[in-house]
Amino acid sequence: MEQREVPAHEPAHEPWTGETGDGQRVVSQRKEQAGEAPHLSVVVPVYNEEESLQTLYTRLTEALEPLGFPYEMVVVDDGSKDRSFELLKGLALADPRLRVIRFRRNFGQTAAFSAGFDRARGQVIITIDADLQNDPADIPRLLEKIEAGYDVVSGWRKQRQDPFWSRRLPSIFANRLISVMTSIHLHDYGCSLKAYRAEVLKNIQLYGDLHRFIPAIASWQGIEVAEIPVNHEPRRFGSSKYGLGRTIRVIIDLLTVRFLLSYATRPMQIFGLFGLVSMAMGIGISFYLASLKALSGEELADRPLLLLGVLLIMLGAQFISLGLIGELVVRTYFETQKKPTYVVREAVNSGEEL
Ligand code: UDP
Ligand code: MG
Repeated sequence: MEQREVPAHEPAHEPWTGETGDGQRVVSQRKEQAGEAPHLSVVVPVYNEEESLQTLYTRLTEALEPLGFPYEMVVVDDGSKDRSFELLKGLALADPRLRVIRFRRNFGQTAAFSAGFDRARGQVIITIDADLQNDPADIPRLLEKIEAGYDVVSGWRKQRQDPFWSRRLPSIFANRLISVMTSIHLHDYGCSLKAYRAEVLKNIQLYGDLHRFIPAIASWQGIEVAEIPVNHEPRRFGSSKYGLGRTIRVIIDLLTVRFLLSYATRPMQIFGLFGLVSMAMGIGISFYLASLKALSGEELADRPLLLLGVLLIMLGAQFISLGLIGELVVRTYFETQKKPTYVVREAVNSGEEL
């Protein structure tokens, strides 16, 4: 018997569009009534967005209802100090498709996404900002791409409506840099409007401010990423939670992501290499100086090269030790949690279920 898992390139998930005929749709609707999993989850982080929420809810509903399959909105109130939660609660009482989670304090947008992902039940997960800068009407186009076989579809705010010097310019540089360093080429990493196959997100854990790197972090699984231009509007209510300082944090985070992507499972290969190169240079310099001393009796004490040689040897030893410690940490990480170091796309006759 063939065991089918969800392949990345076929829309093998339970179908949700007209393509599959009305019979399927009726089945889906019944499932929804029985409280079964929706096909689509829209995850929304909210921090002090009281003026936007009603409109956001209306526009999301207008965009999602015509799709004709069950969906849910998972809204995470990230410790808002305004009336955001009361408003959400009011809306949720009237609509069971709206699920609301409230944090005890402000944990940040990444944590809010993470909480949303943990609770999302859909096979496709969409993320969108609550401040109405993203347009819910773009969602069907993202879904089309997912259906075409992509695992991640990222919005590109081609006409971004944010201040130029403090936001757009730094963002252009940051996006170029991230694209080069991670080999996932996107024009706009920062756009919150994105669509993911749920299984792509199940395999990753988010820390700090890493949500904008999800396509890059997920790329270790071997995913297909698409990017489509989406609408972007200026912020009408409330204020942006970020400023110029974010670009610097993004670049620091990029170092982490780059390292995790290439050497997370084999730290010795990178630190060991640094260590060996450094040590070889140090030993070379020391031999050279030692031979000068031995052959021509030269004074070495006041030569800077001697210091460099010693420094390189010590650095080399430290890098190698760091690599070995890294190897231990990696083993602890994967083995204690029984995490695989690979991701399966499909299996035939293997007796396993994803
Ligand atoms: N947000 C959040 N927690 C935070 C900061 C922001 O949940 O600590 C939410 C915010 O409510 C909005 C989204 O994340 O829905 C994006 O924030 P913002 O619009 O301030 O960012 P920008 O669009 O200026 O990059
Ligand atoms: Mg915004």
